[in-house]
Amino acid sequence: TKGAAMVTAVASRVQAQRKQIDKVLALFRLTREQLVGVRDKMRVELEYGLKRDTHPLATVKMLPTYVCGMPDGTEKGKFLALDLGGTNFRVLLVKIRSGRRSVRMYNKIFAIPLEIMQGTGEELFDHIVQCIADFLDYMGLKGAQLPLGFTFSFPCRQASIDKGTLIEWTKGFKATDCEGEDVVDMLREAIKRRNEFDLDIVAVVNDTVGTMMTCGYEDRNCEVGLIAGTGSNMCYMEEMRNIELVEGDEGKMCINTEWGGFGDNGCLDDIRTQYDKEVDEGSLNPGKQRYEKMTSGMYLGEIVRQILIDLTKQGLLFRGQISERLRTRGIFETKFLSQIESDRLALLQVRRILQQLGLDSTCEDSIVVKEVCGAVSRRAAELYGAGLAAIVEKRREDQGFEHLKITVGVDGTLYKLHPHFSRILQETVKELAPRCDVTFMLSEDGSGKGAALITAVAKRLQQARRE
Ligand code: BGC
Ligand code: MG
Repeated sequence: TKGAAMVTAVASRVQAQRKQIDKVLALFRLTREQLVGVRDKMRVELEYGLKRDTHPLATVKMLPTYVCGMPDGTEKGKFLALDLGGTNFRVLLVKIRSGRRSVRMYNKIFAIPLEIMQGTGEELFDHIVQCIADFLDYMGLKGAQLPLGFTFSFPCRQASIDKGTLIEWTKGFKATDCEGEDVVDMLREAIKRRNEFDLDIVAVVNDTVGTMMTCGYEDRNCEVGLIAGTGSNMCYMEEMRNIELVEGDEGKMCINTEWGGFGDNGCLDDIRTQYDKEVDEGSLNPGKQRYEKMTSGMYLGEIVRQILIDLTKQGLLFRGQISERLRTRGIFETKFLSQIESDRLALLQVRRILQQLGLDSTCEDSIVVKEVCGAVSRRAAELYGAGLAAIVEKRREDQGFEHLKITVGVDGTLYKLHPHFSRILQETVKELAPRCDVTFMLSEDGSGKGAALITAVAKRLQQARRE
């Protein structure tokens, strides 16, 4: 009959559409071999970055941090910390008490308007100093000359703990006249321009390093710091004898890997999709930070948006209508992905979230959107896992251990908020580094506390040298 024929026609159209959707999702599914490949290529890049001859060309920069030891519990005092480069800009006062290893913190969050993130360097640093002034006023600390640790979460070439030349901006920053300059000098000059107070800037620190330090304060086995947030990066303790860029063979030093740049030489092209390329091309730094763009919070939502646009164009979503909202960059923040993928959420609620984002969806649409989010975040977690497996395996081999027990300090909104990311990351490391027993430790405010601890250690060493 006619009715039955129509039902069959609809059913086969639904089937054909499903096939098209699955084809897109399949691009994000990595096989075990592919993940092993990513792990092994990461390992090659890590070694390249450490060696003097290959360092200039390495895409994983392996930057020495001049952080050589963990806090020993004798640190104490009051410190200021700045945290620039994550989701928020913050100024903190950190009080460390020795002995009981207790830390108290007071902090204030400040917005950095887009026009300042992407204005001139002077404007950016004047704004930072303005925020410090507000904070000191607020805390009643004007004139208190406290030692300051500056968590600056961008790639910096360091020649000592209190010097850091910005190599290039990443994430959403693009202020002019900063690349190639020392960020500590820029901060000092802005303080001088304001001519209202003085600060003793003791250390410039990457957020991964602060995170490792914070966890290392409680767990001696913590020798890796990981950020899965707006950006993507990892640091770890390396043997001095392996660090060809720094004199000396004794002891260890923390290396900021800047692994976000992994793949910038094309070595990940076999797994990058057209959507990854679109996200890259629409970013502030095309061609750069390719691994970061497949793994971090700032870009995952953008990948999802590119896929949704394509599926809509193919008539597989939103009744084939690309809305203005869907054309808007940045609408899918990490927190939305996390909500959409939450298992406790009914589809009706997923639709409500999409509604909030200005996207009118049917029930079928919401299922597809959830699947897309799942595919993109799973791949990100697996890629993180492959990267991390490379480093823990390296540490195991370098120390000649059959088995390695190691702790990884972690921070970042993606790791903390996403319902599945951390589990998939952990499973992947286990699978790809079976001889390593990796414990993950959430860092409580690594950027602030860690910067203060590093400042405390640096201050202690400074004083010891003077005596
Ligand atoms: C930066 C790193 C930083 C990471 C996490 C990346 O974009 O290059 O220095 O550690 O983001 O914030
Ligand atoms: Mg050396």
